[in-house]
Amino acid sequence: MQTQRELFLKHVAQTSEAPLKLEIDKAEGVYLFTTDGKRLFDLISGVSVSNIGHSHPRAIDAVCKQASQYMHLMVYGEYIQYPQVRLAQRISEMLPKTLQSVYFVNSGSEAVEGALKLAKRYTGKHEMVAFKNAYHGSTHGALSVMGDEEPKRSFRPLLPAVKHIEINKSEDLNLITNNTACVIIEPIQGEGGIISASSNYLKKLRNRCDEVGALLIFDEIQSGMGRTGHNFAFEKLGVVPDVLLLAKAFGGGMPLGAFISSNQIMECLTNNPPLGHITTFGGHPVSCAAALASIDVVSEEKVIDSVKKKEELFTSLLKEHPKVKGIRSSGLFMAIELGSFDNVQKTIKLGTERGFVTDWFLFCNTAIRIAPPLTITESEIEEVCSIILEVLDEI
Ligand code: PLP
Repeated sequence: MQTQRELFLKHVAQTSEAPLKLEIDKAEGVYLFTTDGKRLFDLISGVSVSNIGHSHPRAIDAVCKQASQYMHLMVYGEYIQYPQVRLAQRISEMLPKTLQSVYFVNSGSEAVEGALKLAKRYTGKHEMVAFKNAYHGSTHGALSVMGDEEPKRSFRPLLPAVKHIEINKSEDLNLITNNTACVIIEPIQGEGGIISASSNYLKKLRNRCDEVGALLIFDEIQSGMGRTGHNFAFEKLGVVPDVLLLAKAFGGGMPLGAFISSNQIMECLTNNPPLGHITTFGGHPVSCAAALASIDVVSEEKVIDSVKKKEELFTSLLKEHPKVKGIRSSGLFMAIELGSFDNVQKTIKLGTERGFVTDWFLFCNTAIRIAPPLTITESEIEEVCSIILEVLDEI
């Protein structure tokens, strides 16, 4: 009989020649449990997804209740479905007055696609400005605004007229012109290796977009929903976008994304043509129910309040190790710089043997990722850091 591993390699289409191949039996809190009996600290959270930890009883309960009431009923935007309406209202309450209209989709890439189309339709222009080292997803539009040529080369032609500028370089802002439909930016670049835009730079970017009539899109698909110690990174940086993108942790462990804007901007998708953007499963009721449960947990258990302290604890426990060349972080969105890809690969391999999973970043392979569930406790941080230090001693 073929093993699960053999079947995985044979029938589940692969994304690389070297998948992690961890065989997971169950996941709970900050732990993954493998089929061969290992308990691993999850320092990836499924790439910034599992903010309230794995298998949170409130999320499970919400999913089961909604699944037994109804699942899919109709394509997005036609029927009034309580979980969707309630979630749109709840997220709007967390946002400024200019971000009150929520368009639900299934994933981050779809949120990006929707936002790019919205900008073209609203402004009547088609040029776009994006950032070097930005990651926005794998679909054609998202790939077009990705800030690295390597992953795009084999898939050209992509969207025309996309310019890439450098984050925090004010001189580049004059590449945003009257022909620019939108500027899309991760206020804190995730796959770039946790690189934050400065507040001052974002203010200049905001002004430039206003000057030329371009929509400013913030991709907070990784940095949103509390990961940085704020509901959204833009709150900390003091600049409000025209369009906000959410996905990943937004769905509370279920697939869900959204692009959010003002009613006035969003309205343009309803006409010329009508049904200008549609989706079958966007805002699936079960995903929305999980999202609501997750927001409730974060708010009732005051999860965000402790994020800064946990970031400081990780930093203080790891920073003195001679293999640690630097730490870039914003809340529990952290990159531990190890100086070489070799050190990163060895840490990942040995870490998996000793008790934690981590990863590198798509556009920064010299640092490891520390993005555990936000619910990780201080004693769990102490325990996992002592394993990390042991591993760093050995590599
Ligand atoms: N935007 C950012 C900042 C991301 O990190 C990702 C995924 O890693 C995406 C967009 C794409 O999201 P998805 O994989 O859900 O399509």
